Formats: sequence, C-alpha cells, structure tokens
Amino acid sequence: MFVVSGGDPLWRPDLFELLQAAVDIGITPSVTPATTSRLTEETIQQFADIGVNRMALSLDGATAASHDAFRGETGTFQTVIEAAHHAREAGLSIQINTTVTAATVGELPAIADLAEELGAQMWEVFFLVPVGRGAQLAQITPERAHQVTEWLYNRSREASYRIITVEAPFYRRVARDMASETGDETPQVGSTGAGNGFVFVSHTGDVYPSGFMPLRAGNVREAQLSTIYRDAECMQRLRNRAGFDGPCGDCPATQYCGGSRSRAYAATGNPTGSDPLCPWVDEWSTSGTSPEASPCGVALRPAGNCHSLRLWRIGWNEHPNTLRVRGGRSLHHDPLTLPSHHHRWLLRGATVPYSRTTSDGVEIFNSILWGLISGRYMH
Ligand code: SF4
Repeated sequence: MFVVSGGDPLWRPDLFELLQAAVDIGITPSVTPATTSRLTEETIQQFADIGVNRMALSLDGATAASHDAFRGETGTFQTVIEAAHHAREAGLSIQINTTVTAATVGELPAIADLAEELGAQMWEVFFLVPVGRGAQLAQITPERAHQVTEWLYNRSREASYRIITVEAPFYRRVARDMASETGDETPQVGSTGAGNGFVFVSHTGDVYPSGFMPLRAGNVREAQLSTIYRDAECMQRLRNRAGFDGPCGDCPATQYCGGSRSRAYAATGNPTGSDPLCPWVDEWSTSGTSPEASPCGVALRPAGNCHSLRLWRIGWNEHPNTLRVRGGRSLHHDPLTLPSHHHRWLLRGATVPYSRTTSDGVEIFNSILWGLISGRYMH
C-alpha cells in the first residue's frame, strides 16, 4: 500500500499525477489530506475518479469544540464531517485517524460512534509518540494504554469497521490474551512496525523506518527504496527482534509485539530499546531489579465463599523483605487450566478465584509458579 500523507499533500501540484501513476503500475494509493478549505467536493471526486483506495480523515474529538481545540483551528471538525459525506457520495472509502493523548482518550468511545455514523471502513488509532509537535502533547500512562487496548479489542468485536493501531503493537498481545480468555480465535490485529513492512519517505526523498522515528536510513535519490529497506543497517536492526534490549528483548511476546520502536527511540535514543508505554516495560523499570532477582510469594486466602490465590512479588530492591502487590487483574478461570502465557498475568498480583481447585491443586499451582520463576518466565 502507498499512502500519501503530510503535512498536507494537497499542497503538491503533482499530487493527482502521483496518485494516477501509482494506480497505473498497480499500487493501491491512499491519501491523508489535511482538513482545510483545499479539501473540496471536487478534490474528493477527483480522488475517487483516479481510483484512490481510501481517504483518511483525522478526528481527535467527537465534537466541534474538542476536535477544533485539539487541532488549534476553528471549523476543522465541520470540514471532516463534510468531507466524509462528499466521500460517501463519490463512492470513496474513508478511514478515521485518531491520536490517543491524555486530552483525547476520554472521547474515544464517542469518536468510535461517530466514525461508525460517518461510514468509515477503518479506524486507525495512533498512540502518541513524543516527537516533533507531538512532544508538546500529554501522553497517557502505561496503565491507561492497557485499558485502551482492552477497550479497543472489545469494540473491534462489534464495530462495523476494522480497527488498527499505530505505535501500539502491544495491542496484539492484549488482543491475543483476551481472545484466548474468551475462547475466540487468535485475532488478526493490524499494527504497523517501523522498518518492518513499513517505510516512510519524506518530501525530500529521505527514508526513515517510520514517520515517528527520525533515523535517516538513506535517500531515494541515491539508492532504490527496496535496497534501503532491505540493507540499511538501522532497518536490519529493527527487524532483528532477538537483538532488542531490555524488557522488549526478553519478553515472550516480542515476536508478535516487539513494542513501538519509535517510542523506544524517542524515550531512550535506542531504536532497539523498550517501549515505555507498555505496562510490562513500566513494571520492569519501576521495580528497579532484574526479573531473575525478584522472588515471588504465593498465599491462599479466603475471598467470600471461596478462596482466592493472591500472588505477591516480594524482595524488591527498594523494599527488601516487604510484600508488594503489583497491578494485575482477576481471571475467572481455574488457574490449572490456563495456558502458560496467562501465568504472566497471575504473577502480577492478580486475584484468582480458586473455588474449583482442591488443596492439591494449590500445591500443583505453586510448583507451576516456581517453575516459571526459575525458568526466568517471571517477566
Ligand atoms: S515488553 Fe515489549 S514486546 Fe513485550 S508486550 Fe511489552 S512492548 Fe511488547
């Protein structure tokens, strides 16, 4: 797929020529115009006539007040609504792009509803990477990011459009966990990966692994795009997940998640570092200790008319010999039947209903946990 974005691609006098050339050689073009007065009904009709696959419209608030405030310009919300209607009349598919920040996160459900009303085929949810102008926006916390991905998964099961995320590959991990809890098939979750199936070419021809990672890999005036993508040292590093550093390197989900390389680079200056928006990375970082140095305790205790198994992580460097419960969630399953990846959650201080498990089961479960710990699985 070939996406022409901006800034505003409508400033290019050769935009329609470029789109037509892409169609002529069999590449499917999409376009992300800015919602200004240049985005007229005629322009949208021209996109449709050329054979543009999809037009993306940014929507960062569900009302004129919130969207225009986020964009810093009055009238842009109305332009989005009108553009969506013109696209529908022209038979042009649209997608809605939304950036998740501390300011927009509360309106996601209303934006999701509006995207449905506008007839969007896709909702692309960008998790803010603090680079460029984005560095001035407030980010959400890792915990909130986790809640948002869980909510997105639930929404995706009933939405009339496809939901994909940008710079939130941990959505894949969350979706897989949730699907396995509900017995659903492993979902095919779309998510872009910097330098891994994706490249960004600037208006001057410079090539980057993503639009959020200012790490120049080459220039299309000096080498073929395919050569830069395949051979540039930074692109190869980004595809070698076994070489990632820190939690993202040790994580068993790295092959299908891998963390946002752009956010890791923005936070650490290391493109193969760890994604600080992932709650797992956050937990590792705040514990101040390596996983293998963190013993775990298990305690069976009454909870209502059954028992709960409260898992404690103890012996953290900053609180030696004290108990500390890490964040977690309750799993309404018999722990003995859980697939192994769920044990990762149990190790995060989750409360596990234990009514169906005998006292022998407790012993067995304890031994599973200790096996996981000694096998360096407690990450
Ligand atoms: S630690 Fe890294 S690879 Fe693992 S789930 Fe989090 S972001 Fe993904």
